[in-house]
Amino acid sequence: MAEDCIFCSIVSGEIPGRIVAETDHAVAFLDANPLAPGHTLVVPKQHYGRLSDVPGDEAAELFDAVHELSAAVEDALDADAVSIGINDGEAAGQEIPHTHVHLVPRFDGDGGGSFHTISPASESPTDEELDEIAATIRGD
Ligand code: 5GP
Ligand code: ZN
Repeated sequence: MAEDCIFCSIVSGEIPGRIVAETDHAVAFLDANPLAPGHTLVVPKQHYGRLSDVPGDEAAELFDAVHELSAAVEDALDADAVSIGINDGEAAGQEIPHTHVHLVPRFDGDGGGSFHTISPASESPTDEELDEIAATIRGD
């Protein structure tokens, strides 16, 4: 548990949270400032800042919970879809430094955007640039 971490305090029960699911290593609770009714956050119980800090087995459990909740949240709110995402790092908009997955119920015509609206489009890369980036990510 990290001091001064609001999500650690919710996980420990020190401050109340509207818990909607819990597993050995993950907890899901309602966002206090929801983008839509039912906006849910899924977090590892341990304090990890970034997704890449989470050990693989705990990450698998985290995403199992996301998988189950994607349907449960959509059904409970009678939503048409769900936006699921992580602001992974400050430059991506992460404000709470305890990694978390957002599940935001979406409704036909709700005026929200898609993942493609969060970043200005980059200029179209050439085939060579795409090949080079793919090779770098693979670690060739
Ligand atoms: P981030 O920008 O870090 O990806 O998202 C942080 C989220 O945490 C925001 O959606 C914000 O509304 C939510 N949040 C901030 N403080 C609290 C809190 O005290 N309780 C709960 N349940 N959610 C919070
Ligand atoms: Zn924490």
